[in-house]
Amino acid sequence: MAKKRRTAVKTKKLAVSVSPPRSSARKRTASRKPLSASGRLTVSARRTTRRTNVPQYVYFFGAGKADGDRSMKDLLGGKGSGLAEMTDAGLPVPPGFTITTEVCNLYYENNCTVPGAVDDEMLKRLRQLEKAANASFGSVERPLLLSVRSGSKFSMPGMMDTILNLGLNDSMANALGRRTGNARFAFDSYRRFIQMFGNVVLEISKDAFEDELDTVKRVHGVSLDTELSEGALREVVSAYKEVIREKTGRGFPEDPLRQLRLARDAVFRSWNNPRAKEYRRIYNIPDHIGTAVNVQLMVFGNMGDRSATGVGFTRNPATGAKEFYGEFLINAQGEDVVAGIRTPQPIRELEQLMPAAYALLRRITSRLERHYKDVQDFEFTIQDERLFMLQTRSGKRTAHAAIRIATDLVDERVVTTKEALRLIDAGSLSQLLAPIFDSKAWCKIPVVTRGLPASPGAASGQVVFTAEDAVRWASEGKQVVLVRKETVPDDIHGMYVAEGVLTATGGMTSHAAVVGRQMGKPSVVGATEIQVDETTKRLKIGEHQLGEGDELSFDGLSGEVKVGLVSSQPSEIIQVVAGNLAPEDSDIYKRFNRVMKWADRVRRLGVRANADQPDQANIAYAFGARGIGLCRTEHMFFGEQRIPMVRRMILAGTEEERRKALKELLPLQREDFYGVFKAMRGGPVTIRTIDPPLHEFLPKREELRVEIARLEAKGSRSRKLPGKRKLLQRVEQLHEFNPMLGHRGVRLGITYPEITEMQSRAIIEAAAQLVKEGLPVVPEIMIPLVSDVRELVHQKAVVDRVAKTVMIEQGVTVDYLIGTMIEVPRGAMTANAIAEVSDFFSFGTNDLTQLAFGFSRDDATKFLKLYQDRKIIARDPFASLDEIGVGALVEMGVRLGRGVKPKLKLGVCGEHAGDPDSVRFFDKVGLDYVSAAPYQVPVARLAAAQAVLEAETED
Ligand code: PEP
Ligand code: MG
Repeated sequence: MAKKRRTAVKTKKLAVSVSPPRSSARKRTASRKPLSASGRLTVSARRTTRRTNVPQYVYFFGAGKADGDRSMKDLLGGKGSGLAEMTDAGLPVPPGFTITTEVCNLYYENNCTVPGAVDDEMLKRLRQLEKAANASFGSVERPLLLSVRSGSKFSMPGMMDTILNLGLNDSMANALGRRTGNARFAFDSYRRFIQMFGNVVLEISKDAFEDELDTVKRVHGVSLDTELSEGALREVVSAYKEVIREKTGRGFPEDPLRQLRLARDAVFRSWNNPRAKEYRRIYNIPDHIGTAVNVQLMVFGNMGDRSATGVGFTRNPATGAKEFYGEFLINAQGEDVVAGIRTPQPIRELEQLMPAAYALLRRITSRLERHYKDVQDFEFTIQDERLFMLQTRSGKRTAHAAIRIATDLVDERVVTTKEALRLIDAGSLSQLLAPIFDSKAWCKIPVVTRGLPASPGAASGQVVFTAEDAVRWASEGKQVVLVRKETVPDDIHGMYVAEGVLTATGGMTSHAAVVGRQMGKPSVVGATEIQVDETTKRLKIGEHQLGEGDELSFDGLSGEVKVGLVSSQPSEIIQVVAGNLAPEDSDIYKRFNRVMKWADRVRRLGVRANADQPDQANIAYAFGARGIGLCRTEHMFFGEQRIPMVRRMILAGTEEERRKALKELLPLQREDFYGVFKAMRGGPVTIRTIDPPLHEFLPKREELRVEIARLEAKGSRSRKLPGKRKLLQRVEQLHEFNPMLGHRGVRLGITYPEITEMQSRAIIEAAAQLVKEGLPVVPEIMIPLVSDVRELVHQKAVVDRVAKTVMIEQGVTVDYLIGTMIEVPRGAMTANAIAEVSDFFSFGTNDLTQLAFGFSRDDATKFLKLYQDRKIIARDPFASLDEIGVGALVEMGVRLGRGVKPKLKLGVCGEHAGDPDSVRFFDKVGLDYVSAAPYQVPVARLAAAQAVLEAETED
């Protein structure tokens, strides 16, 4: 079925005329091979060179033909596959070749060297490139210069390295100057190359070069790079070479081929630099997939005022608005734009400066968007008014933008609703629920400056100036905002923990903006009026002087910056859900709701919520939960007024005393259950009998001891003393070395059946009341932590007895189910026996993870980070289900349980239901529903739909 659907997909050609219509170029484009819409090519399925059957490690693209295509992201990386696809479609792409991601792994396996055979293959492609470019590498007559860029399957903006203008040396720079009649340009390229090479390959800090550049600028009395004359640039080149000699004890390598090999290897090395590793950790990108290296003919945006370089998006990636969006710099090279060193010009200004190149860029990029059916993030260079495309990929976007883009693309008939669902990162939906500034409080404070609104949201906190300080302060529980002159990729760990990021330079596509958006981190960039001194840790905004720790706020949607802290208010969606804003008054809510409805049409899994209070249940319902998968009754005991009653129950010396205390709790529980049933409007509600160790309700043993000692030392005759001593005695009795493995869950219900009795009574009485009111509900009573069927048999007898009594008392029939949690490995292993007496199972993957690994839920964070760093585990198993181990237990529970009762109702209520990857697994193993925290319900709805769509394509 799925197969049929796939073959029915029409292969669409990405044809854009790059010259006026009716030209021969157009005809050529039209006759090219259609784009493949085939499935992914896995690494094992990679191509081999035709005759020899030797695996292919280097893929050529140029002269309108490419070895690769869009389906080969695994092997060629996103950039490589995009370049291949664009080349094949006849777009103006400088020719080049891609060294595959497999070579990256070979490089590491081979003691950080590229095997000779691959090197030979690279040289062959280089010859091919020379032919396509009509130039010769290392030749002074027809110089060929190259760019060497990283590119993995998943884009990692700014995290890895790039080297431009490779192939230059003294004689080559002079030759380039002569050939182009522009020696200034030649030496500008040369100094850039030495700096990039020195930094990336020779690992000399950027500052060492920047200092020299600043000195030359000062001597010549200029402030911008573009104002440096040819002579001044020659001075920069000499100074840079001196830096290299000083730092490495060797001269700058003049041989172009040596430069190429060293640069290629350095790009492979950059896969494992600290920021790339941190980025992969944050975004769960596997370490083993490696990066490709793209080697491409250089085109120059720094050839003068008729040249430029830029980046852009087919839609606004911050808001999702349909507007051509981007920025460029005249007389510059690519890195200048994304590094945020100069603040570039908005792209519409290109229309006036170079109308033909602009029109072509518009044409190509809109076509790319329709072809890829997604917003494109592209890079281009204009050399002497001639446009070249250097990259295209799906644009990273905020959750707001993702929702807007998905709904707009459906309305524009570019994508179907199913395709639209795939365009939204389910995990990012929580961004939509993040608070915004309280509008009243915000208006009271004057705006001190404005920057570019790069990523929406409210950021308010204490100023820090370095990523390290951000991490340190945040670990002390402080809210910080990171203020930087510009952010560099090394700041990623600081950005991650900060409330928001403010930079003085950089445009909307600068690194700070791109990464900020992806993280959903409020960001304002290019706030040019602020002066940041990172060494003295001072910030000047007009009259205001701020230091580390001073308070600052900014709004990533408007770009406004204010001094002081400003309180927040709930996001628009939360306001609608809470009934404080009419749905029709919120554009984002309406779009969000449409997307959720599309997801509901596709998903197979039911989505419930974990909620213990009626108000939480109401919110969960408003977010689309149609049932409660876990009501943790012990959480209902935590209210101020209830704790003393619970304590009386625990401290009771006899059953009779305990029953008295339980009687007080009964009406309160009944009322809560009634509220939760009502909030779910008759939908299924799973109520779990008491689970955690009783000592959680009592004061801490150590604190009590200190208090008593203090009273005794004072010789106090306080009447409190005997009570305290009695309390301590009971606390000592209840003390356990391993409470999580102790007197909790079903064990508690067995030792104190009166607790199960009271809870069952409260549940059935509440349900009976609703039956009488005409809203019949079917409570699902759940017994936790069962490891042996006999435990369940015991508790079931208690529940059944109470239910029967209550029904007679109330004179109504209440249908109810009795089930269990599968959260102890032995429970999963004996699920067949347990299923005999159970109406349903709910997998408690929190405890199941704790017990399968033997990792304490409360203490494991101490070593889990180290485990991840050492690659012992890929992800925190409490956040994302460990499919191999814990997943095997879940599968076993499903198989054994359904083996006995084929229709056994199965769900999951561990925290994993809010993690899209885990939801995919639960869908695959055939659970009936997932139950997530109320605010994660939208994530679960979308993830459940995406799981179905993914399974369809895999078929
Ligand atoms: C679980 O263990 O997965 C679960 C949902 O129960 P709790 O988190 O309350 O232990
Ligand atoms: Mg549990």
